[in-house]
Amino acid sequence: MSTVSWTLDCAECAASYDGLEERHRCECGAPLDVRHGGAPSLSPATADTRLLSRRPEDRSGVWRFREWVLPLDPAELVTRKEGHTNLYDAPQVAAWAGVERLLLKHEGENPTASFKDRGMTVAVSMAKKLGKRSVACASTGNTSASMASYAAAAGLKAYVFIPEGKVAFGKLSQAMAYGATTLQIAGDFDRAMTLVEQLAADEGVYLVNSVNPFRIEGQKAIGFELLQDLEWAVPDWIVLPGGNLGNNWAIAKGLAELYDWGFIPRLPRIAVIQAAGANPLYTAFTQRRALVPVVAETLATAIRIGNPVSWQRSLRGLARVDGVVEQVSDQEIMDAKAEVDAAGIGAEPASCATVAGLKKLVAAGVIAPDAHICGVLTGHVLKDPGTVVDYHLGKLAGIETTRAHPPVQVEGTVEAVKRALGG
Ligand SMILES: *Cc1c(COP(=O)(O)O)cnc(C)c1O
Ligand SMILES: [Zn+2]
Repeated sequence: MSTVSWTLDCAECAASYDGLEERHRCECGAPLDVRHGGAPSLSPATADTRLLSRRPEDRSGVWRFREWVLPLDPAELVTRKEGHTNLYDAPQVAAWAGVERLLLKHEGENPTASFKDRGMTVAVSMAKKLGKRSVACASTGNTSASMASYAAAAGLKAYVFIPEGKVAFGKLSQAMAYGATTLQIAGDFDRAMTLVEQLAADEGVYLVNSVNPFRIEGQKAIGFELLQDLEWAVPDWIVLPGGNLGNNWAIAKGLAELYDWGFIPRLPRIAVIQAAGANPLYTAFTQRRALVPVVAETLATAIRIGNPVSWQRSLRGLARVDGVVEQVSDQEIMDAKAEVDAAGIGAEPASCATVAGLKKLVAAGVIAPDAHICGVLTGHVLKDPGTVVDYHLGKLAGIETTRAHPPVQVEGTVEAVKRALGG
């Protein structure tokens, strides 16, 4: 008899495991998902009353929905009161993308400046519950920054596997600052991912990549909180970038559960945007076939993933919500980023694939200009300062700078400054 109300289920072969069984994947190799015992008691109205509470489990934009996420005891939580991110109305960005109105949920406003904190609070809480002493992940940067922070808060050792030389500075500096042991693997993300799974299996280290089912449960809360921001109105579209593909699956899973439990009347559609240089989901989706891994190349390092762990679940989620997949070039990503940044909002390159993809889907007639559209910005503008500076100096290889705001060199005199300001 299990002591918890959920099980870990495989959608590929229908196997089911105890909710506390420690395994990274099903026997058949597929990632596992949390299946909740039945419709939880939490209603949207009760979730709203928690907005007035100061308790950490209610302040957190993940644990505020704990009955829908994972019913842990508040005393068991490792939380940094993640979530409660802003939903911005972005008229300039909307006009650029060709839509009447665009709302952007800025997940870069999480404690470590990316949405990864939402999954990490759940995974690290589970690591503690299971009595683990160390956690590990492979990362293009944001997962490691988040894991390092939450592991430090929980008193756990943290091992980070990152691809050498391909991690943005903001992210690398966070992993170091929070005290993780950082291994720069000679190879790409996909190589680092293979190695860390091996280590976790052999050494009993707890793996917190998005193959971890509890990460997915936490990331569902992006969708929950978005609906709460909208006073439980269901938008027509949610647009977000896709790399390892855990996040779009998480949002689809969470919203489908809310629908199945009778809390929302319909489902939004989801558009997943990939970088053209890291587009295996786009190819699989448009050609209606199994995913074929690619060697990934894009300056949007957070989605520079050629062999995504969650592709099967991603496609399943897209089928459930009548979703679509689009791809965008690095030039299109940087053009969109210039708009998001110049609107005063700002986000890292991968996040801006959202806006680039939206513009393309509107032009293609897939998304109507008057639709109710919410985009997810996944990470903070300061995550990748090098790319921003190079862009504005016109030094980004292969990218045309269409909207430069470079610094101006001026002599230290009033006249010179006046001249520089145009009189
Ligand atoms: C992790 C990440 C993504 C990709 O999310 P997946 O769940 O891997 O598809 C996109 N943007 C940012 C900023 C990220 O950190
Ligand atoms: Zn299975």
